[in-house]
Amino acid sequence: MGLQIDLHAKLKEYFGFDSFKGNQEEIIKNVLAGNNTFVLMPTGGGKSLCYQLPALILDGTAIVISPLIALMKNQVDAMRSFSASEGVAHFMNSSLSKSDILSVKEDVLSGKTKLLYVAPESLTKESNVEFLRKVRISFFAVDEAHCISEWGHDFRTEYRKIRPIVEQIGKAPIIALTATATPKVQHDIQKNLDMLDAQVFKSSFNRSNLYYEVRPKTDPAKDIIKFIKNNEGKSGIIYCLSRKKVEELTELLCVNGIKAASYHAGMDAAARSSNQDKFLMEEVNVIVATIAFGMGIDKPDVRFVIHYDIPKSLEGYYQETGRAGRDGGEGYCLTFYSYKDIQKLEKFMQGKPIAEQEIGKQLLMETVSYAETSLCRRKVLLHYFGENYDEENCGACDNCLYPKKEFEGKEFLIDALNA
Ligand code: ADP
Ligand code: MG
Repeated sequence: MGLQIDLHAKLKEYFGFDSFKGNQEEIIKNVLAGNNTFVLMPTGGGKSLCYQLPALILDGTAIVISPLIALMKNQVDAMRSFSASEGVAHFMNSSLSKSDILSVKEDVLSGKTKLLYVAPESLTKESNVEFLRKVRISFFAVDEAHCISEWGHDFRTEYRKIRPIVEQIGKAPIIALTATATPKVQHDIQKNLDMLDAQVFKSSFNRSNLYYEVRPKTDPAKDIIKFIKNNEGKSGIIYCLSRKKVEELTELLCVNGIKAASYHAGMDAAARSSNQDKFLMEEVNVIVATIAFGMGIDKPDVRFVIHYDIPKSLEGYYQETGRAGRDGGEGYCLTFYSYKDIQKLEKFMQGKPIAEQEIGKQLLMETVSYAETSLCRRKVLLHYFGENYDEENCGACDNCLYPKKEFEGKEFLIDALNA
């Protein structure tokens, strides 16, 4: 495959875009050259294109491993909308019937299919491995690759089996992509996928259009209703820790005349997907959800992300807030924090294996220091991803706009000394 092909023309032809975002072009060239590739790019940066475009150009079928059924459907629909052929993209997961699977396999074997999205659970199935051995594979793409690492915010054991399965199916280059970029997670992924040799492409993780605020959790429901009423017609996501809270809050919002719907893993698939569609189609403005919602869902104009409960890790926080403002427009990220919630989260961990508890606690403590800091939140967040942020004042977080008094405790101390 010569690299002299006109990538800009292909970009325009297949996706209708005029230019590449960030370092997409270099990444794509690396994939086309048949190298292993590791992509660290924030949410909304445009990771999908980094494997979609090469998949369309190269001979054979690219196998895309991706964790969520909702995410796959979303991406396959998007790919089809760009293409004249329905068969250009398919997915294989537990939602398909036997006859669906047969027609997918037929398309793949006929060479029509350039992208085959596979859930990790399906990839490890013997019958699918047998099938994939017959397929001419251009490369493997491992999306949301942080799922491999226990230090990531969404560890999935199935992801650990990817490498051995790739060996069984037949070796091909791998492109791994994630928006989680702590050095620990990065190393874990590369080691586990046996791609320490990969070319690494790391973009800045700063999302300058996002505003970060952490508020004490005194009367969060009241604050949320007020916030939404002040932002009428805008789309937003509210994350809660428990399914029960999701349902309660949805109801409360609806009672207050706000168009809201729930999303959590306890609902059946049809109800979940219908509520997701309502949100995407803007029949509702607000989706109240557990962290089951959002990975890879492409709604570019989400204007706010509210955390009713503090997330378990800064990684999770970054990912979830990252769903705001993907179109580059404003995104308001509001988190409610109370130390009691931290204690609750610690309690949840108690039944788990010791090693897991240790990791969990460490991640939690990093969240606490973010929530309690009086430094620029952007600086703290980026520091967590190993990135220096040098601006004196970011102009878009509560601590920069409304600095806390130098050292609030000092006044207490002086009062106490004078008493
Ligand atoms: P990520 O997976 O990194 O979170 P996506 O691949 O979902 O990001 O892309 C985010 C958005 O950016 C999508 O709406 C996508 O269509 C858009 N996008 C990607 N590449 C380009 C480009 N070169 N020009 C314009 N829009 C792009
Ligand atoms: Mg993505």
